[in-house]
Amino acid sequence: MTVDATSAYDDQNIFAKILRGEIPCDTIYEDDHALAFRDINPQAPIHVLVIPKGAFVSWDDFSAKADDATIAGFIRAVGEVGRMLGLVEPGYRLLANIGHDAHQEVAHLHVHLFGGAKLGPMLAR
Ligand code: AMP
Repeated sequence: MTVDATSAYDDQNIFAKILRGEIPCDTIYEDDHALAFRDINPQAPIHVLVIPKGAFVSWDDFSAKADDATIAGFIRAVGEVGRMLGLVEPGYRLLANIGHDAHQEVAHLHVHLFGGAKLGPMLAR
């Protein structure tokens, strides 16, 4: 089921449970603003999800409601994960799905980080 990006935050979503330590994940990075862990169903040799620690449904919700320090901290964390994985020189792709048409499935903002191979054109047609 896809997410209504205009809905209120539901703290029973799976990434909220991961943040509370109620279900496990393969963590690769954590700081005050963000948690990064491997996607359970990878779509590239490297497929990591970076999530903010606050309660935000989507990039839309985050960009509208988060304070500047929270936004800066999260964006810096995404960049740090790319550097930590050695992906800046070969290159990598970031993607954030927002709502139904983008097929967002988890109602907590997450940025997908793909790398480790030539990723091809941006969208399948
Ligand atoms: P999206 O379609 O952008 O909402 O993507 C949700 C992503 O979360 C998918 O790539 C899933 O494979 C991934 N996912 C769902 N549950 C878990 C989990 N427990 N641990 C890691 N990744 C997950």
